[in-house]
Amino acid sequence: MADVHIIGGGLIGMLCARFLAQAGVNVAIYERGELGRESSWAGGGILSPLYPWRYSDAVTELARWGQSRYEEVAAELRRESGIDPEYRRTGLLLLDIDETERQRAEVWAGRFDYHLEYLDRKAILKLQPNLGEISSQAIWMPEVAQLRNPRLLKALRISLERLGVAIHEQTPVREILHYKGVITGLSTEQGQVPASRVVVAGGAWSAEILKGLGIQIEVAPVRGQMLLFRAEPGLLEHTVLSGNHYLIPRADGRILAGSTLEHVGFDRQITDEGRDELYDFATRLLPPLEECEVEMQWSGLRPGSPDGIPCIGASGSLSGLYINAGHFRNGVVIGLASARLLADQILGNPPILDESQFRCN
Ligand SMILES: Cc1cc2nc3c(=O)[nH]c(=O)nc-3n(C[C@H](O)[C@H](O)[C@H](O)COP(=O)(O)OP(=O)(O)OC[C@H]3O[C@@H](n4cnc5c(N)ncnc54)[C@H](O)[C@@H]3O)c2cc1C
Repeated sequence: MADVHIIGGGLIGMLCARFLAQAGVNVAIYERGELGRESSWAGGGILSPLYPWRYSDAVTELARWGQSRYEEVAAELRRESGIDPEYRRTGLLLLDIDETERQRAEVWAGRFDYHLEYLDRKAILKLQPNLGEISSQAIWMPEVAQLRNPRLLKALRISLERLGVAIHEQTPVREILHYKGVITGLSTEQGQVPASRVVVAGGAWSAEILKGLGIQIEVAPVRGQMLLFRAEPGLLEHTVLSGNHYLIPRADGRILAGSTLEHVGFDRQITDEGRDELYDFATRLLPPLEECEVEMQWSGLRPGSPDGIPCIGASGSLSGLYINAGHFRNGVVIGLASARLLADQILGNPPILDESQFRCN
């Protein structure tokens, strides 16, 4: 029998499982559909919050921990699985920067030791030719990297299989069972499973999963749509952010345009409005994209949370229950540290960061 049972096979549940299994714990994951096919699959894989200085220190601390380790983790996963998650340091060019934003960024970079450069229009176009509508000032973060989510998740899955993690797909968890304040098991569509330690990593569905226990967390779905252009390598070299949207260059030349921010409950449909919003943004910022085929449009439900701060740790009300949810727009970049924090809490190891910032209830 597994020692730790994880509900939700997105990136967060999978990373928690990997840390625990590497420490010798028997882990089982229960996933309603297929592993890594929801928000984690849909994401852009930018390894930085957008305008990171607009977030709290708690988010910066999680991000910074992950940013310093992802290259190594990607290399390990490539070795273990034969799949390259395409960790690439393509930088982040942030357009539309005014004086106030610049000052805020400068203070933040000084406090957390990030490297920023300030570019004028000429320098912007020298760094990234082909851009159309651009601002007169930009911030350039050359160290920001990206990963390709579907590849990361496939590699992670193979790593989990090799570590002996029990993967139960097409297995929705209906109820978390407890007796006298202590977790006793799970009720799944396939039957009941005894369990003394359960992790809820259900992404946007986490609050729904916990509702039955009378536990409330502020996590709600926020739909994000994406558009993929088939372009030739070299058209775009760097990730470029303008307003709330961005373009991400993949290694094979494809360019990802993201993303919409929509509060539409659990509706995961793609829409014509979403396509138009992203197409207009992408072709105004990079006009040669008008000549490129739009290969795919998709969406994902981000686990939205107040200020984007996830809830990580033991539930205050039921012994044996842990939560790791609410990573909102930054689950890839902050997920590595959040998974490690939770795994260390379960293992009784000292925390990598001050845990109190992420307390659930
Ligand atoms: C369009 C878009 C762009 C993004 N871009 C970035 C980016 O560039 N950088 C970044 O860092 N982050 C980005 N994100 C955010 C990031 O993808 C998410 O924060 C992260 O994937 C959340 O992971 P998760 O494992 O919590 O959720 P999910 O990946 O949604 O996984 C949760 C899993 O739980 C399962 N589940 C739910 N209920 C049950 C149940 N009852 N029983 C069993 N299983 C259940 C679901 O089926 C699902 O597979 C983006 C997200 C989107 C949508």
